[in-house]
Amino acid sequence: MTQGDEGISGTALRKREAFLQMMEDCKSRKIDVIYTKSVSRFGRNTVDALESIRTLMEYNVNVIFEKEHIESMKVEGELLLTVLMALSQNESKQQSDNVKWGIRRRYERGEIQSIPLGTLQGYDKNEDGNLVINEKEAEIIRHIYDLYLKGYGRYRISQILEDEGIPSNQGHTKWSWSTVEKILRNEKYRGDMLCQKTYSTNYLTKKKKKNMGELPQYYIENTHPEIIDKRIWDVVKLMHERDKKYEKAHYLNSCHRDTEQLPLIGKMVCKQCGYTFVRRKYKKAKLQHQYYWCCGSFYKNIERHPDKYSITDERPTQLFVEAWNKLLRKKVRYSKVPANVLEEYRREELEELFKQGPLQMFNYERMLQTLDHMEIGEDGYADIYFYAGTMVRVKI
Ligand SMILES: [Zn+2]
Repeated sequence: MTQGDEGISGTALRKREAFLQMMEDCKSRKIDVIYTKSVSRFGRNTVDALESIRTLMEYNVNVIFEKEHIESMKVEGELLLTVLMALSQNESKQQSDNVKWGIRRRYERGEIQSIPLGTLQGYDKNEDGNLVINEKEAEIIRHIYDLYLKGYGRYRISQILEDEGIPSNQGHTKWSWSTVEKILRNEKYRGDMLCQKTYSTNYLTKKKKKNMGELPQYYIENTHPEIIDKRIWDVVKLMHERDKKYEKAHYLNSCHRDTEQLPLIGKMVCKQCGYTFVRRKYKKAKLQHQYYWCCGSFYKNIERHPDKYSITDERPTQLFVEAWNKLLRKKVRYSKVPANVLEEYRREELEELFKQGPLQMFNYERMLQTLDHMEIGEDGYADIYFYAGTMVRVKI
């Protein structure tokens, strides 16, 4: 029997050697039982600890956790894993700080040789294993962020990239909206790193699993050079959250398409039920080949729409022009301070665009960049909301 606890504190790197020695001793059967204060003593994090414990079990070494009252040899493998996972959630703040600090120090000393790169576009690894910007690929990343802030949806961006013949990762020419989304959401472009996005459930399957909160995640800033300005990255993050919320609230598919042919599709919302408007063809013979817009759920949900209301095909784009010019004339455009960095960014952008004066005719790019949505209802008014966090009301 051996008191193994003292030599294996995972957070103290200088004791690492003693720990490895102990593992060697276990392998050569010099040790058959290890008493330890807590699971956390077995590694820098739970994944590490589980790996070590699994190895010890293979050597037939019994591990007794005093604090948790568990004996590894008495518990079924699967159950032990479950128990240890649960315990890991109680890891003290002290310990997680130590882990964070440890990773940061190791990074500073250049000991982290492997920021997982995978198929990440925009970076290469230098001979020390650190991430360095690949300028050619970084241009693509900046282009994607730029298009997104100009109001193009994720699906539309994937189409634009294909049309421009821009290669995606591994040289493919196909782009999907979800690839675009992943790029927009990746913190590495901000120069940061989120650790333990996935973890290995090695005890049972050795497969990678997405970390849905089973293990702590550590967010470390400034681990490598950024490709996207930090403020812009934060703006895009909020914009993406806004889009998700908007799609959910208005029953839109997350790969819904924006198109120049139907510029306001997805942007017109029914005041009565929250559905977006659809374009329909008149059935009457004399109006054939003519279109109008009405609520997409009108026929499914007649009780919420006592009066059928619709607008003519050309009216939506006119409404935007009228709203733009009305907002431009307003002396006080915003009633409160910006809610966040996204709204602040959108206000600066809008004021910059207003310098170009009123709109004479509809401008698709302008609309895409500035219009949040318009709400249309039986009251005969369109409430037109801008990304900058302000609204104007226009008569339909
Ligand atoms: Zn409706």
